[in-house]
Amino acid sequence: MKYLFDDKDGIIEEVRSQDRRAFFLDYDGTLTPIVRDPQKAFLPPKYRKVIASLLGDGKTFVCIISGRAIEQLKEFIGLKDLVLAGNHGMEISGPSIAYVHDGALRAKPLLKEIVEILKLTLRDFEGALVEDKGLTVSVHYRMVPVKHHPRLKRFFCRAMEKFLASNMFIVTRGKRVLEVRPNVVWDKGSAVKWILGYLSVHLLEEKPYPIYMGDDETDEDAFRVLKGQGLTVLVSPRKKASEASYFIKSVEEVYQFLGFLAS
Ligand SMILES: [Mg+2]
Repeated sequence: MKYLFDDKDGIIEEVRSQDRRAFFLDYDGTLTPIVRDPQKAFLPPKYRKVIASLLGDGKTFVCIISGRAIEQLKEFIGLKDLVLAGNHGMEISGPSIAYVHDGALRAKPLLKEIVEILKLTLRDFEGALVEDKGLTVSVHYRMVPVKHHPRLKRFFCRAMEKFLASNMFIVTRGKRVLEVRPNVVWDKGSAVKWILGYLSVHLLEEKPYPIYMGDDETDEDAFRVLKGQGLTVLVSPRKKASEASYFIKSVEEVYQFLGFLAS
């Protein structure tokens, strides 16, 4: 894995020379800095402008892909004409594109029950946030004092036992977040593959050149799917083990790079 800005000129030339481009951009930690309160991750206007400048040339497709629910992404980003892939790609929505994963849809009623149980179980942890995202549920504990984290995780595991035993759900972890997802074979990588296929067939006349940027474990699935094609970029302050071919050090650098591509 190389630092992207060490090869900047060559990469920019390569991306610009493509007839069709498809950007897949993670949200938290990639397009916006990770904030203490996950309910307040609004996209600053200066950043919105950069993303908007990528759109509208008729040959660039932009998809924001996130673990968040689509409705919340809409509210945070405030840009039309974007394709949004929410819940790690289990739901996809945008101009002329729509998808919801079947298995995730089927697990929805039971997920409602999980939300209620987790809210009840964790109600005494100040700062813990149980977020109902429709197809998945997240427990954010960034605002819970660190000394309570082990106990919170214990309570969480106990509450989840019977649901996990049913094999219908899995638990994943991200940065100060535990997440319950339906046990379906679908991740950001599957979503990227699905969208690229859809684009080639329905929207663009040819297969676009994919550019994926993300900062977290869940983005590795997409890096893996895109191995050997396009450009994959991990957002990380330092080099680390990853399936991405390049890394970039900060959200600020992500926008610098996107700015070069748009102008
Ligand atoms: Mg992220």
